[in-house]
Amino acid sequence: MASALRFSSVSRHYGEVRAVAGIDLDVAEGEFFAMLGPSGSGKTTCLRLAAGFEQPTEGEIFILGQRADGVPPWRRAINTVFQDYALFPHMSILDNVAYGLMVKGVDKPTRIRAAMQALELVKLGGYGDRKTAQLSGGQRQRVALARALVNKPSVLLLDEPLGALDLKLREAMQEELKALQKELGITFVLVTHDQSEALSMADRVAVFNAGQIVQIGAPEDLYRQPKTRFVADFVGSANLLPPMLTEQLNGQRRWASLRPEQISLGEQDGKLSLAATLSSASFLGAMRRIAVRVGNDVLLHADLPAAISLPPQGSTVTLSFDPQVLNMLEDAV
Ligand code: ADP
Ligand code: MG
Repeated sequence: MASALRFSSVSRHYGEVRAVAGIDLDVAEGEFFAMLGPSGSGKTTCLRLAAGFEQPTEGEIFILGQRADGVPPWRRAINTVFQDYALFPHMSILDNVAYGLMVKGVDKPTRIRAAMQALELVKLGGYGDRKTAQLSGGQRQRVALARALVNKPSVLLLDEPLGALDLKLREAMQEELKALQKELGITFVLVTHDQSEALSMADRVAVFNAGQIVQIGAPEDLYRQPKTRFVADFVGSANLLPPMLTEQLNGQRRWASLRPEQISLGEQDGKLSLAATLSSASFLGAMRRIAVRVGNDVLLHADLPAAISLPPQGSTVTLSFDPQVLNMLEDAV
């Protein structure tokens, strides 16, 4: 399939600050792509480069196969939903949505019709006459989305679009956004620092750290086979086993990661096992999470069935897990 957005060795420096360095990525048409990483890792800079609000210091950007250099933002087949929505408070919702088309010189009846359709799409059909102050946070988010969709972009960039919403609404909007993307077939590039958001919505996720992409993959692959301690720890929760401990288990002196839900209690045939001291247990509804110590300085977590009965704190327990779920990492030893 053709590529909707491609970065080839793209860097952007601000004086001494290397906001992004050596980014390579290739987003396919119709893909839901997420950029995941901690604050300051270069995600917004990548979106601004794609949208044309910034120019790369080095490297090349291609949109639908065409070099993007020198193409101004409004001539790119890309629209952005900004983190702060950037709505105009003095305008009605309908005028906010129609604004981009007005700037492009689209006649009034056509742009009003298009804006009404875009509002229908985000389930705000009856809200065109209101001002932004009369809307909830979730509704403002939808207006920002409608304002981008009205331009019928090939690629939609979304910068932390759900960051301002509370948890329940955020989860509902995650499902809606995903459904809308499938329905419209537009390429989405979503920026988030929330790993569960990236995993649940995206076809592929690029994990950012310190201005670089450290791993790209489908959510399941990233979760099952993180390559480094950083990715293992940032995507889901992980136990990190130091080389000394891994060596005792399988003879390889390397860092390894192990997911809490892959550990069970008691010795079992064909599994690796470790003796540990139970230090605490907490009831999380669907499961029971325990913390155990192996030796003096390795603290591990295991997620066990909620109904399990546990020995008292300070008891010695045996942890067991399949040899193949112990994920070997590439970090230097
Ligand atoms: P993220 O969106 O992942 O939080 P950003 O792309 O906003 O990260 O920023 C990446 C790095 O680049 C940060 O260290 C940030 O301070 C720096 N940066 C971003 N924009 C500018 C700018 N206009 N001038 C100087 N430094 C910047
Ligand atoms: Mg940002």
